[in-house]
Amino acid sequence: MSTIPATEPSFRESVDLMFNRAVALMELSPGLEEKIRVCNATYTVRFGVRLRGQIKTFTGYRSVHSEHMEPVKGGIRFALTVNQDEVEALAALMTYKCALVEAPFGGSKGGLRIDPREYDDHEMEQITRRFAYELIKRDMINPAQNVPAPDMGTGEREMAWIADQYARMNTTDINSRACVTGKPLNAGGISGRVEATGRGVQYALREFFRHPEDVKAAGMTGKLDGKRVIVQGLGNVGYHAAKFLQDEDGARIVGIIERDGALFSESGLDVDAVRDWIVKHDGITGFPDAVHTADGARVLEEECDILIPAALEGVINLSNAERIKAPLIIEAANGPITAGADDILREKGTVIIPDMYANAGGVTVSYFEWVKNLSHIRFGRMQRRQEESRHELIVQELERLSNHLGDQWSMTPDFKSKYLRGADELELVRSGLDDTMRIAYQSMRNVWHSREDVHDLRTAAYIVSIEKVAASYRAKGL
Ligand code: GLU
Repeated sequence: MSTIPATEPSFRESVDLMFNRAVALMELSPGLEEKIRVCNATYTVRFGVRLRGQIKTFTGYRSVHSEHMEPVKGGIRFALTVNQDEVEALAALMTYKCALVEAPFGGSKGGLRIDPREYDDHEMEQITRRFAYELIKRDMINPAQNVPAPDMGTGEREMAWIADQYARMNTTDINSRACVTGKPLNAGGISGRVEATGRGVQYALREFFRHPEDVKAAGMTGKLDGKRVIVQGLGNVGYHAAKFLQDEDGARIVGIIERDGALFSESGLDVDAVRDWIVKHDGITGFPDAVHTADGARVLEEECDILIPAALEGVINLSNAERIKAPLIIEAANGPITAGADDILREKGTVIIPDMYANAGGVTVSYFEWVKNLSHIRFGRMQRRQEESRHELIVQELERLSNHLGDQWSMTPDFKSKYLRGADELELVRSGLDDTMRIAYQSMRNVWHSREDVHDLRTAAYIVSIEKVAASYRAKGL
């Protein structure tokens, strides 16, 4: 069951409607427009796994939206709600997302219809390996053609199984580790991949608040510090985004919405304490020092400065869009706002930082991981100590000068230790992600502010990314 009301277009139709709104403002030939919009292929597989003495049949999908660049990229979702329409919508969003942040991939997505909580670790491994086997033997997992990653219901554990399954089936492929990203560090992963999507949301908001004109468009002033935030979904993305905004930017997390309702506290919720409570009690119910609302979705409509839907698609739809009070929404999930709700919110003047940009931190760091796997070396390994010894030279020279000039010219106490340390992989990954998020935001806002016919960031994001995909097709002579 999808969260999108049956009276509204499906998720894929919703993505197409948003695409159409943008291409109407572009000058593409109708043929090229159609070529970019449609999903190239969707593979459905039904496979059996012997579990608890019986054969259980599972249904999985891998959809490839656009192969204008290869490999194609996108996560694999494990959820009971998985269906063809959803993977196709998500694959399309991957195409636009990768183009926008200049990750050199086409768009793809996969899904397996399963409730992972129904199976133990060993059973999950059997199921995941079997699904991976089905995709690998058809080159739908391959370092040069199609590289999956985590999504809802999957994480490092599943990616390690997939990578190992690929290696078993391709024993001489020296690049086998690059067949999937989001792996644990000891299986060829990269530092900072787990936090990457949430970190990207933080960097996106920081960049937004660097532009007073944009902040004003949302009817706000000032910086992130002190802003009231409501987050829906304290999974990997929502948790990291909320935690970083609280710990590092001074934002106040006033609302957290989860499967079993919502918590609200005007003075702010401790994100780590809520997360620990969820792990222990399998939900937020009973968490002390906050108001619990059983109908969690209602809290989407509470007063706040920033709303972060970080869970499912279609949660802001025709039934509640009118009542959403947040002046700024950042779509940490894929497709949380339906096309109809998007119209209503735009009309009201709500500023929406769109999914294809807001949650692109995950695929950006996946790109770094893929490059790391192909180069077979950790980032920073060659230059870190060399960088440190050059810094040492400067510090020695400064010390010599300050000794000569007297005490008032001495270095601030922690300058030396901070400056001397060369960047490790995590710092390099964060720097690359920050740069990516800043540049992509600027490319969107340039279109938003420079064109009179573009009134929102989503349309601007589509225009930037479709233009890049179109250029790549044109270069191929299409
Ligand atoms: N599943 C994530 C997304 O929707 C990550 C995809 C990837 O890293 O390839 O963007």
